[in-house]
Amino acid sequence: MAGNWKMYKTPAETTAFFEKFRPLVEKSEHCEVVICPPFTNLAAAAGAVNGSAIRIGAQNIAWAKEGAFTGEISGPMIAASGATHAIVGHSERRQYFGETDETVLKRTQAALEFGLTPIVCVGERLEERESGNTEAVLVSQFQKGIAGLTEQQFAKIVIAYEPVWAIGTGKTATPEIAADAHRAIRGQVLAKYGKQAADSMRILYGGSVKPDNVKILMAQPEIDGVLVGGAALDPVGFASIVNF
Ligand code: PEP
Repeated sequence: MAGNWKMYKTPAETTAFFEKFRPLVEKSEHCEVVICPPFTNLAAAAGAVNGSAIRIGAQNIAWAKEGAFTGEISGPMIAASGATHAIVGHSERRQYFGETDETVLKRTQAALEFGLTPIVCVGERLEERESGNTEAVLVSQFQKGIAGLTEQQFAKIVIAYEPVWAIGTGKTATPEIAADAHRAIRGQVLAKYGKQAADSMRILYGGSVKPDNVKILMAQPEIDGVLVGGAALDPVGFASIVNF
């Protein structure tokens, strides 16, 4: 169960969040919990979860280790802040910051190189769904991005299916729509990496997940977890999603 805070919260607000959130999920052993705050809060978040099972992730990662890349944050910097995960290819990065399948692959490889678990996002836009191209888009994103990983690398990633039309809009994909998309992605994994990889990999659903819809989504065997944006900002609300 992963939370993406997007561009919200200061370090002080981060500490306050975990003071409330941590006791609410202390006994939640059925899943892994990851919170992805802005870069500036990674150290505060990692300090606040120290000694618990909660993990911290970045929302992006540079493809290089270091260098003349103004505004970028590298894998070693993220790891040194105490984070263990990194979201890659979020639709807001693709939409507003020119992220492409090629850069998604490079960032994913960098995360793996520096010991971070990448949560790699794919998903179609509304016009692509309405024109019947959902599966073609997912296949293309998979083939041009993720499929560049070796088998060993692939075994360490998590995929998040996030239909762009459902992110931050209050429109959740029906459990059936989400499950269909997850099946299409798993089919690609099967063809490229084989049955064991397809069976053991985790695909999260993301897009307006809330405390009141998490249960029906998680009831789909195809959905292994959720990536939550807006509803992960509130400690009580996100704890109730974790403890669905
Ligand atoms: C997200 O930011 O990844 C996301 C799914 O956002 P929301 O839950 O707000 O739709």
